[in-house]
Amino acid sequence: MFPQDHSKNWHSGQGHWAHIPPQEWNRWVWQLQHRLKTVDEIEHYMHLTPEEKAGCYFADKKLALAITPYFFNLIDVNDPDDPVRRQVIPRIEETHTSPEELLDPVGEDSSSPTEGIVHRYPDRVLFLVTDRCASYCRYCTRSRLVSNAQDYNFHPEFENGLRYIENHPEVRDVLLSGGDPLLLSDHKLDYLLGRLRAIPHVEFIRIGSRIPVFLPQRITESLCNVFRKHGPIWMSIHVNHPNECTQDLRAACERLAFAGVPLGNQSVLLRGVNDDPETMRRLVHRLLMMRVRPYYLYQCDLITGSAHLRAHPQKGLEIIRALRGHTTGYALPQFVIDAPGGGGKVPLNPDYVTGITETEVIMRNFEGKEYRYPINSAIPEEAFSGAQCIY
Ligand SMILES: *Cc1c(COP(=O)(O)O)cnc(C)c1O
Repeated sequence: MFPQDHSKNWHSGQGHWAHIPPQEWNRWVWQLQHRLKTVDEIEHYMHLTPEEKAGCYFADKKLALAITPYFFNLIDVNDPDDPVRRQVIPRIEETHTSPEELLDPVGEDSSSPTEGIVHRYPDRVLFLVTDRCASYCRYCTRSRLVSNAQDYNFHPEFENGLRYIENHPEVRDVLLSGGDPLLLSDHKLDYLLGRLRAIPHVEFIRIGSRIPVFLPQRITESLCNVFRKHGPIWMSIHVNHPNECTQDLRAACERLAFAGVPLGNQSVLLRGVNDDPETMRRLVHRLLMMRVRPYYLYQCDLITGSAHLRAHPQKGLEIIRALRGHTTGYALPQFVIDAPGGGGKVPLNPDYVTGITETEVIMRNFEGKEYRYPINSAIPEEAFSGAQCIY
């Protein structure tokens, strides 16, 4: 029923920058230095609509504008609705705000005992180690502090966070995020991971990063050696659309996997980007081909100025229903809403169970056919006593 997605069609090459020597193009510092940050720089390669142009002029007051040349190449510049374009090119709608929208949509500040730490769940913390990213997602849930465009004055200095984790033995799980932790130098990451590994109660360390997607050149052998040294380090990457699955991303995931880094993916359900079953099916299958296990599909947080990117939660449920049973469970992310006000992630699942009675479970399978599982409650416990076990 679903057509196959032949991996040989995956994007590769230097696109608009074909004239740059590959050794420059493949240097991650070159990519950062040549990020597109202004209307003029972008219009050198594509025509912006009036809504986008106005959005770009406003961006420095909300969330910085920056796009790596590598990621920019994934945009079909002739398509105003291109799914990569919608994620990173600002639009004037970002200045619109509605009453339900918030600057801190998931209530992180209220669960922050010290700067850089969000401690919401009993056994794990979110540790924000930088405010910078390689490129900026226009629906960023932390746009209040990421890129420091909003006078939030977030300048994480991670000794503070390390001390908090050292002093809280209940923290067995640390999630490094930001900003993007992989923008720290290899040396700083080595130091940070070494400090975390030295804390006896920290059992599980992972990094949330979109660097493999925005800047796969950053996944160098020397960075991989840092992960080997302190492993297992787990990583959640952030891919939203199959067009982001390139030869370069696939090679970066391979380097990480070969360095012993288990990989998961977190997607955000975005209107006009990935809010349909066919796009998500292609995405999750490509993720599996890249050794990446789909982990979460997030309903987009109620971040200020994100209404144009938010899809109806029904779409998320429809996607999960279209995947379940039609493809492997390994390809299925958990659809969640991060509850406004600090409730944490709440799973949303399509219903397959239509009833549970004293005698049976009544359910529907992925094709909508009804099945019954009888519950044998008639055998009393005594029936087993004295029975001889022959094995
Ligand atoms: C998402 C999140 C985590 C990690 O949750 P998992 O379900 O373990 O992936 C931890 N802390 C905060 C504040 C989070 O938002």
